[in-house]
Amino acid sequence: MKVKKSLFSFSLEEMRDYLTENQFSRFSADQIFNWVYKKFVFDLEGWSNVSKKIKEHFLENIDLSLPKIVWNGLSEDGTRKFLTRFSDGQTVENVAIPGKDRLTICLSSQVGCAIGCVFCHTGTMGLKRNLGSGEIIGQFLSITKWLKENVGDDVRFTNVVYMGQGEPLHNFANVKQATKLLLEDKGIGLGQRRITLSTSGLVHQIEKLGDFPPVNIAISLHASHDNIRTELMPINKIYDLKRLFSAIKKIPLKAYRRITYEYILIDGLNDRLEDIEGLDHLLNSRESKINIIPFNEYPESAFKRPSPEKIRWFQKELLDRGYITTVRVTMGQDILAACGQLKSELEKPNLWKKEQIMA
Ligand code: SF4
Repeated sequence: MKVKKSLFSFSLEEMRDYLTENQFSRFSADQIFNWVYKKFVFDLEGWSNVSKKIKEHFLENIDLSLPKIVWNGLSEDGTRKFLTRFSDGQTVENVAIPGKDRLTICLSSQVGCAIGCVFCHTGTMGLKRNLGSGEIIGQFLSITKWLKENVGDDVRFTNVVYMGQGEPLHNFANVKQATKLLLEDKGIGLGQRRITLSTSGLVHQIEKLGDFPPVNIAISLHASHDNIRTELMPINKIYDLKRLFSAIKKIPLKAYRRITYEYILIDGLNDRLEDIEGLDHLLNSRESKINIIPFNEYPESAFKRPSPEKIRWFQKELLDRGYITTVRVTMGQDILAACGQLKSELEKPNLWKKEQIMA
């Protein structure tokens, strides 16, 4: 069977070239982009100014399907979690996180994940497969469409984080292409500072970030000593802190940009004074921002969340040492939509308090 290329994996220039190669007008690419990315019209019938010949050609040669939203749950704090299914039946989870002046979508880059961080629900799945760039953009489009139809026509995502299922740099080429598409002016049109790529520390791929659009970078650090990091993230056996930081130093940072270090704070494990001193030793306060993520417990999780007093103390010690340090407000915990809790679990709907099967 012929494998069709996804409509949502083309950049504008690639679409123009594709149309030209197939003897169609180059200009139609702009019209198609306008229908898809500005008006969210995915049904060819609705593309009123696009020629019948192009539509016939697309029906035969291009994959026009969007992933399907098969479940969604709304948390008490407004966070909405989605289970999104691709044409081969594989599913990933996405989260839409409302903020004061933003709406962030958390995208998945893989089905499952090979990295196996021990604190992460997704990590227990193993890696099933990479997602194509069209499938990554498809998550953005499907969920936007769903929100427009079910919440309000003015709903618009302002920010994207690659913090769903998967290690984005393990799927470098497709995530790179998807990021270019998120930035495309005549497409989704997000700014570089509105996109955050989060990595567990795949050193050989971090070294290639010079060849990646200049978006925000977040490093999942989680420990400042090798023995603890290895316990939490098996990848540290291969890429220890020394190798990781020698690669991070080579990331081309635009002026005034910082790298965010994600730090899951776990009771009694990495919340001690020597962990703070270790961070101070590793990081440079002018170039680093630390985001403390108090551990989100999930069914059968082996770790505990520190007390609020301990979290405040940890943050203050870092602030006193000159680091911009935030504590992530946990959102969506009642529906397992918080960081590290994503896992495709349609077979266990009892984990979700607000189940709502959509299809
Ligand atoms: S935290 Fe990220 S990199 Fe680690 S197992 Fe989970 S999804 Fe993979």
